[in-house]
Amino acid sequence: MFFKLYDKQIEVMRLKALESRVPTHHPKKEMVVRDLKKKKSEVAGEKELDYPLGFLDSEKYLILHNIRLKDENGYFQIDTLVLASKFYLILEVKNWQGTVIFDDNGQVIRKRSNEEEEGFPNPIPQVKTQTFRLRKWLRKHSFPEMEIESFIVIAFPSTIVKSAHPGTRIPEQVILNNQIHFKILELEKKPYNHQTSIAILREVAQKLLEQHTPTKSNLLQKYRLDHSELIKGVFCPECQFIPMIRSKYKWTCTKCGAFSRCAHRAALEDYQLLIGNTITNKQAREFLLVESPYAAKRILQSENLIQIGNKKGRIYRFADKNPNSPLKLK
Ligand SMILES: [Zn+2]
Repeated sequence: MFFKLYDKQIEVMRLKALESRVPTHHPKKEMVVRDLKKKKSEVAGEKELDYPLGFLDSEKYLILHNIRLKDENGYFQIDTLVLASKFYLILEVKNWQGTVIFDDNGQVIRKRSNEEEEGFPNPIPQVKTQTFRLRKWLRKHSFPEMEIESFIVIAFPSTIVKSAHPGTRIPEQVILNNQIHFKILELEKKPYNHQTSIAILREVAQKLLEQHTPTKSNLLQKYRLDHSELIKGVFCPECQFIPMIRSKYKWTCTKCGAFSRCAHRAALEDYQLLIGNTITNKQAREFLLVESPYAAKRILQSENLIQIGNKKGRIYRFADKNPNSPLKLK
């Protein structure tokens, strides 16, 4: 059984919207572009992991993705947690691509095809810390003692994992994505001191779902950007020029001459992803670069939004993209 606590795809959508609306020479542009690339790779890595985990018996294993919990030291995150009757298993997913080299100190160097090198800290202490914090969390919530196993999973099977010297060993906990299923079956054969019931596993999962705290999704706050710094207007769906001009119920591109009746839809989506779930007529005019309140009203009313209030004070509400309501186990 899979429980995705937080869908990273929405973060990709938010970053894409931001990337398109931060001007090219803005000092934050580079950071946004880099973070978008990283987030896309995380989503791809997560998809790679779902495949081998899909082979596990859904009656016996509970699988939780992207858990973020709070303890006295702040927040800690677990990419994937597998709950089984004899052990809990933390999977720390690494989206490393190209060639990955483990050196004598456990440091990791990634070499890309363009010979660019990038260093990463030893992942073993990282999962040890997660294990320690999870164990403490379980104790705090009075759950029975269980063995906690962990693997560092290289998400992409095409990644080459090497040691720096013939004598250097790659840590046993480091596995390739396509080994997960077999590694879990191996764990099943190990003798463990504790065993628990599926009912308890469900209680643990339910508690994790309740205590999960999603990261702040307001990107403007995160990057310390002001609303006024964003590019406003409607992008041309044909040539990406911005802004299109609104007249006679349609949008016209002054660059390529294309016209569209619904090009504002993508802009409203950007607004929702970056600014919030509600919009007023004035906010719509400012964001879409429309002068006429009547035109803005027509646009908003054509979009099937929930309307709250009357006349001047009217607020339009978008349908929620990422309902973070606590999930219930059935
Ligand atoms: Zn155009």
